[in-house]
Parts: sequence; C-alpha cells; structure tokens
Amino acid sequence: MRLDGVLLSLDIDGTLDCGNPSGRLCRQDALAAVEAGALIGSASDRTASDQVRVWAGWRVTPTFVVPKHGLAEVAARFPGWSRLHVGDGFVDWLEATRAGFDFLNVADLAATPWSLPAALQPWYQHRDQPSRRRATPHPEEESDAQLRLSM
Ligand SMILES: [Mg+2]
Repeated sequence: MRLDGVLLSLDIDGTLDCGNPSGRLCRQDALAAVEAGALIGSASDRTASDQVRVWAGWRVTPTFVVPKHGLAEVAARFPGWSRLHVGDGFVDWLEATRAGFDFLNVADLAATPWSLPAALQPWYQHRDQPSRRRATPHPEEESDAQLRLSM
C-alpha cells in the first residue's frame, strides 16, 4: 500500500495513543505511513514545542509541526502534494478544509488487518490530486464561465 505524494497531518489529542485523551494511532502507524511514502507532521492545539516533544518521544522526525490554524502555511510549502489531516473533532475538519486539506476522522478509519496505509487507501484511491484539481474547473466555476459566455 503506497501513500506516495501524500502530505499527512495528524492531530494529537484524541488521535494519537500518546495524546490526552489517548487516540487510536500509534508510533507504528506513523512509521508505516512514512514507509509508504507519506510526509507526516502534526497540527494540534498544543504548542509547537510540546508537539516536538511528542515526536521526539516516538523517535520520529516530523516534516512539519504547526498549530491547527497553520495548515494553510504547510499546504503552501508543499504545492502539488495530496493533503490529508486526520483528527477527531469539528475543529480538525474546519481548519483542514479551510486550508485545502482533506479530512478523515480517526474514528472512521478501518482496515483488516489494521495498518494506517491500508486504512487510508479508500481516500488515496479517490483523492483529488492537486495537479488534477487545477486542470478541472469546479462545476460552479464552469457554469460561471458558461454564464459569462452567454452574456
Ligand atoms: Mg483532537
């Protein structure tokens, strides 16, 4: 299972097993995602230094560490990457979608046998790749263009 070209942002509290509350994803999940080709980091309500401590505890080097409202800055640093934020709450969804990330709730992830790359495959297979996103106008943009042409 590959996650090539994926920029994977993880929430911490309620998402990672070392979070408070503890979530489902463990160090092995992060390592498996990196092994599958993803770049990973965290976007959390915690301070950057606290997030760095979490990753250090896992002995994993994150590609980025930002507050949740900092996801747009991460997106700008990695143009062309398929962006996904995995978290456990409304704010995760809100900040992710605002920043051009897709969002998956950690509670909805499923794969048998379990692995994070396997659980992300349904999203990965159907993701809207940024390169494709630029090429294909949104249906509303298209109808706006048609509207302009007909005026
Ligand atoms: Mg959370």
